[in-house]
Amino acid sequence: MALQAYKFRIYPSRKQQDRLLASFDLCCGIYNILLSRAREAYEKDGTNLCGKAGMCRIIKEVKEENPEFYGIYSQVLQNCADRLAKAFNNFFGRAKRKKRGEHIKAGYPRFKKRVRSITYPQSGFSIDERKLKVSKIGRIPIVLHREMEGRIKTLTIKRVPSGEWFAILSCEVPTENTDLSKTNHDSPEGESVNREHPNKDKEIGIDLGISSFATMSDGVKVGNPHFLKKAEKRLKRAQRKLSRKEKKSKNRKKAGHRVAVLHEKVGNQRSDFLHKTARAIADSYGLIAVEDLNVKGWVRNRRLSKAISDAGWSEFLHLLSCKAERAGGTIVKVRPNNTSQTCSACGRALEEHIPLSERVFRCPFCGHEEDRDVNAAKNILERAREARPICQRQIMRIYRFRRSDGIMISPCEIGFFGRIGIIYRGAHGNQRLRRYRPLLLERIQEQAVSLNKEL
Ligand SMILES: [Zn+2]
Repeated sequence: MALQAYKFRIYPSRKQQDRLLASFDLCCGIYNILLSRAREAYEKDGTNLCGKAGMCRIIKEVKEENPEFYGIYSQVLQNCADRLAKAFNNFFGRAKRKKRGEHIKAGYPRFKKRVRSITYPQSGFSIDERKLKVSKIGRIPIVLHREMEGRIKTLTIKRVPSGEWFAILSCEVPTENTDLSKTNHDSPEGESVNREHPNKDKEIGIDLGISSFATMSDGVKVGNPHFLKKAEKRLKRAQRKLSRKEKKSKNRKKAGHRVAVLHEKVGNQRSDFLHKTARAIADSYGLIAVEDLNVKGWVRNRRLSKAISDAGWSEFLHLLSCKAERAGGTIVKVRPNNTSQTCSACGRALEEHIPLSERVFRCPFCGHEEDRDVNAAKNILERAREARPICQRQIMRIYRFRRSDGIMISPCEIGFFGRIGIIYRGAHGNQRLRRYRPLLLERIQEQAVSLNKEL
């Protein structure tokens, strides 16, 4: 089971907007109340108030004292508790990492100034062709510009800074079966679909960079569109105008709107570009090899600027894995070290670091000459090939992939519920492979045990 989100534009009336904004404020209020109670409890006797039951009790109390909270759908309020619990979980996670010696701030959850969205986690909404019916809000016109697949689970209503409204529906989509879980009896209603990638024998390695956004091992390059750079002039002018306007004036509001619109345009352009690029690659290749940019202890010697546009890359990799998985393909993330310094023809690695300005790779051992990025992409693909046969034999450890409520987590949800992957003994020590297929925990464990016995 994978979660797929669909985003639709909605057009709430003035009145509905007011109701929604009031709900946002109430959610913000309850969030802050819960947070302050949690702090108090923690300071008083060190108890942990992050449990859901405790928070729901407080919500109940608050509701009795402040009847205005009855104007909001109860589950939406409970969702605020979930959001806070998530914030605490992240905080504890960071605190743990800090204890282990990582240089990060633990960052205790903060009070919110505003909330920009509300979530109906289960019920309280329905949808027909033209309208989205939302409890306590009304029937909002919606533009369903694409078909949805799967069962609708949650609804989030969001207002972006420029003033547009969106409904985000997350649906549970059945994912394809693999050899490991062919007889998937555990899956409810046998919803799994067998999906084979149409180009399953085609392989590609991708090197992400600055001068060109992505370079493929077959020599194809995807240019970097530099959306922000192109919009910078307009943005600067708009921001300058904004700063000159008198505070709290109507003109300031207008200028602020202009800045928000420009920022959103850049964001939309970028997301459109990333989605389309990822789609094209995911549809054309069965095996996609990329660098694992999240590898711990990753040395930043290769490209300093990598950190700068990292956001675009990790978003791209995330999209790529979602799309590859749904198409039935596989993504292999390989160790990123030295991919630029290794010769793709003879496999030997240069000792010294090649400056970024040097666009052509020249091998001192065999004389091979190639575009720097294409050479790197070929190395990435080669590493993925090396890793593949090994991982099928030596599965060492399975990452968590099943949520507590039994829903199978697929990797397209990385960043939301955690990661899935298999640790295996690869060419470069222990590596984590993420096969983007739903695997049954028990089956893999069985297989892992028997395989390790064999070896
Ligand atoms: Zn060489």
